[in-house]
Amino acid sequence: MYAPETDAAHLISFGLFALQHRGQESAGIAVSDGETVTVSKDMGLVSQVFDEKSLAGLPGHLGIGHTRYSTTGSTTWNNAQPTFRQVGATGLALGHNGNLINTVELDERIGPQAGSSDSELMLQAIALEVQDGRADGRQLERALIKALPLFKGAFSLVIMDQGHVIGVRDPHGFRPLSIGRLEAGGWVFASETAALDLVGARFVRDVEPGEMVVIDASGLRSFRPFAPAEPRLCVFEFVYFARPDSRLYGQNIHAARQNMGRLLASEAPVAAEVVVPVPESGIPAAQGFSAASGIPYADGLVKNRYVGRTFIEPSQMLRDRGIRLKLNPIPATLDGKRVVLVDDSIVRGSTTRQLVAMVREAGALEIHLRISSPPYRWPCFYGMDTADRSKLLAAHKSVEEIGAYLACDSLAYLSLDGLLSATGAARDGFCTACLSGSYPTTLPTNGHKLALEAER
Ligand code: SF4
Repeated sequence: MYAPETDAAHLISFGLFALQHRGQESAGIAVSDGETVTVSKDMGLVSQVFDEKSLAGLPGHLGIGHTRYSTTGSTTWNNAQPTFRQVGATGLALGHNGNLINTVELDERIGPQAGSSDSELMLQAIALEVQDGRADGRQLERALIKALPLFKGAFSLVIMDQGHVIGVRDPHGFRPLSIGRLEAGGWVFASETAALDLVGARFVRDVEPGEMVVIDASGLRSFRPFAPAEPRLCVFEFVYFARPDSRLYGQNIHAARQNMGRLLASEAPVAAEVVVPVPESGIPAAQGFSAASGIPYADGLVKNRYVGRTFIEPSQMLRDRGIRLKLNPIPATLDGKRVVLVDDSIVRGSTTRQLVAMVREAGALEIHLRISSPPYRWPCFYGMDTADRSKLLAAHKSVEEIGAYLACDSLAYLSLDGLLSATGAARDGFCTACLSGSYPTTLPTNGHKLALEAER
């Protein structure tokens, strides 16, 4: 955020609340008053990390913020972001959404000060260029133009020094990043448009794939530091990641998810008395399924909204505990009924198996599971924590085998064709690697996302 005469830290904390779903392990804010960059970060939710007192200790009119979901590096304070380096008189802070695929090469190139995550590696590569450059106030943007082409993979970045805030998207644009204009004057970058609403900003446009946008006292400047590439926004942003009130490729996410449910009903119809969503991720698709099939929609599972999203917690043990804390059935909806149970995805299958058992125990006569995305068969190297293929339920099983494992009466997934048309966006603008096995980049040379962490 660059917001002259405003207390940026408070507004940034609002934005982080809007983006809490994207990462719940740690939260952080870096600000500058034009002279000094100050960083505050800790493990936990935004509400646990920041209060009036800690925000008051972050003076300045520009800054960046981050909520973390670990895809490389372990869940420790050191890996919380923004990550920070002091280079002479220049304070540098960086927040990263995504995952690099060339960490080993970058690590070898940069050497021992590199840090313990791909985000630290990037900041160090940038810091080395800042150190070698002329200190004329434009050193950060020149350093980025040199360092950014070294990075391969998925990275939407916000980077700052004392006087500039810079937003960058990798050439494929795997992860989103939007630009908003603050009503009170100034500019803001955000991973999702929903965060713009919260800070009182109007959506202006997306940072384009391969674009670097610099914001400072003179306004907004755009650069193209990368070789051009085809846009490949993560299709799972539409399925799962993004908030329903956000817009991507100009499309409303909630409406796209309802379309997924509608198409699923026409691709895989079934006779039943009730359509029940797995809250909250399955709600819009269940609404669409119900509307298209004419089968009534009802709430059959109650979510404890004070427990985090199970999928993005970092270990299986925590995920298993999370599931039991998270959902409880409503027997009055389920008892004696043939139930269409709708969810948006199955990744590891542990949640879904327990859910099916829970719905059965609550009295459902039949459970017809409908999933509003295709089977998740391939690991993601671009920012979803699924890089170990052996953990993916659909990697080595047919749909029939998955249905048998989950102990449901029938199982059907939305086709890839259906998913892409449900988005309402151009079909060739997406990464679908985890669903199709067709990767937009070379695969990571380290072969495993934790190689960097293991080395440290
Ligand atoms: S592999 Fe899947 S989850 Fe990863 S970026 Fe591509 S579509 Fe998204």
